Amino acid sequence: MSDRPTVQDTYRKAVKQLDLPPRLLLGPGPSNAHPRVLSALAMPPIGHLDPKYLEIMEEVKDLLRYTWQTANPFTISVSGTGSAAMEATLANMVEPGDKVLIGINGYFGHRLVDMASRYDAEIITFSTDWGKAFTLEEITAAVVQHEPKILALVHAETSTGARQPLEGVGEVCKKHGTMLLIDTVTSLSGVPLFLDAWGVDLAYSGTQKALACPPGLGPLTLSPQALEVLTNRKTPVKNWYLDMSMVSKYWGTGKRVYHHTAPINMNYALREALMLVAEEGLEARWQRHQTVAELLWAGLEDLGLQCHVDREIRLPTLTTVRIPDGVDGATVAAQLMKDYNIEIAGGLGDLAGKVWRIGLMGYNARAENVMLLLAALKKVLF
Ligand SMILES: *Cc1c(COP(=O)(O)O)cnc(C)c1O
Repeated sequence: MSDRPTVQDTYRKAVKQLDLPPRLLLGPGPSNAHPRVLSALAMPPIGHLDPKYLEIMEEVKDLLRYTWQTANPFTISVSGTGSAAMEATLANMVEPGDKVLIGINGYFGHRLVDMASRYDAEIITFSTDWGKAFTLEEITAAVVQHEPKILALVHAETSTGARQPLEGVGEVCKKHGTMLLIDTVTSLSGVPLFLDAWGVDLAYSGTQKALACPPGLGPLTLSPQALEVLTNRKTPVKNWYLDMSMVSKYWGTGKRVYHHTAPINMNYALREALMLVAEEGLEARWQRHQTVAELLWAGLEDLGLQCHVDREIRLPTLTTVRIPDGVDGATVAAQLMKDYNIEIAGGLGDLAGKVWRIGLMGYNARAENVMLLLAALKKVLF
């Protein structure tokens, strides 16, 4: 006889009813999903070519266009999280040897470099400190010097809490034949964002941050010019799953062609999340994020804590707080979780061990959450 457990034993041990703690997710994402979004997620799936589902896709496209302030016909949700949409952007635009200029002021700039290198781009980077943003002069100098095919910037650096101002960048890019690519994962619906007015050609996002939807989809939009670049590629897109020349035949308005089965329920959830954005109104939603973040900043100051990022470029969706000398940041975060079911996060890369990261995104951007966190933080710290 062997000591190995039988298949039946393994099964009995593994499966118990899900028992989840009621966490308040005030870290860099995921954020708590809105109850209406969760209800939508629980609706019965229908076919991915069902006429009703095709209607839902059109609604998702329309609502995304509103949320991003763009008229781009190609505005879809990529199957996968924000990183899938990020990779789709580069995979579809980059051919071997293409010049891609990337601004690095945090973790996600590095991720863009890693991804672009896998599609054999000629990568040029320019950098600033984690927590700072680039000036228009710095960006202009880099574009003028290199005249790249793509300039990539992170609008909301979740690793640092800094917002990259984008006014004027699009004009510089146009003059030099450069496409502007921006990461809007932590800004979409939480921070003022005007893709068309700012001359952005390529943008992607994720569902689980300010959209208050579970992780699982990556919104993606391509300008008509970017679509032309895709159509005129000399080489096929080197990623079958993320090949937008094929995926567009499913998301387009002509006869729908099967590529892969859409995550049906996630698209119900995204549609509901975007409807909530439209019901509230973008400007009111941006203002809510700002007001609630200011309440947090004032409360942190009262506790004697210091924010890492200058106020003019501080993101309302993600605040980095300097960990005071003599305090172990990880212990404090663990205590908040254990005693109060509140999740916050520590720093990444250059800011590891130096800051806490506090997210106030989407459904969570509410005064009562700020008051609860401040009270809990005070208990744990003093
Ligand atoms: C979260 C995040 C991503 C990646 O999204 P995933 O959903 O984790 O794949 C990319 N960029 C930024 C700025 C992010 O905050």
